[in-house]
Amino acid sequence: MESLSLLAERASACTRCALAETRTQVVFGVGSPTADLLFMGEGPGRDEDLQGEPFVGRSGKLLDRLVTEELGLDRSQYYIANVVKCRPPNNRDPRPEEISACSGWLDQQLALIDPKVIVTLGNFATRRLLQTTEGITKLRGRVHPYGERWLVPTFHPSAALRTGGATVAKMRSDLIRAKHVLAGQFAEAEIA
Ligand code: URA
Repeated sequence: MESLSLLAERASACTRCALAETRTQVVFGVGSPTADLLFMGEGPGRDEDLQGEPFVGRSGKLLDRLVTEELGLDRSQYYIANVVKCRPPNNRDPRPEEISACSGWLDQQLALIDPKVIVTLGNFATRRLLQTTEGITKLRGRVHPYGERWLVPTFHPSAALRTGGATVAKMRSDLIRAKHVLAGQFAEAEIA
């Protein structure tokens, strides 16, 4: 099987959708290639497009802090990726055709890393992986089976930056849920 670094190298030259024309670079993902825990965001923003790494802006700083505080982990111990690997211009939402053009990269990335638990950040990642149109507010708070893995949806950190305390508190409780799932300690009643 192909290695993650080889996959990233091939992805770096991708022209499968129009985002290739406006990106600075492909933002494939960062972290441990054998992580048990993987965070999935929406798509790179301006800072990520310039630096080539997911979640390096304000949202990322909040995510890093919450993950350190609730799970005691740093970026070398988990993996972070996005549904689309190239920045949508002006941070608009990724389009359905862009999400589907990027699917091959995402699916192979997940297969190679083979995480036990995926924490989806916000609507795009949660809907893409669970193949639903349901919103994050309804989907979070439970553990969702995802093939052989578990999926724990939470808010996107940018929503927490916009709306503040209550959203941060819910993100913290979702991260604690993810920690319990990683340790295999959760109740049937938590499964969606
Ligand atoms: N928002 C995302 O969804 N992903 C990033 O990498 C940065 C901001």
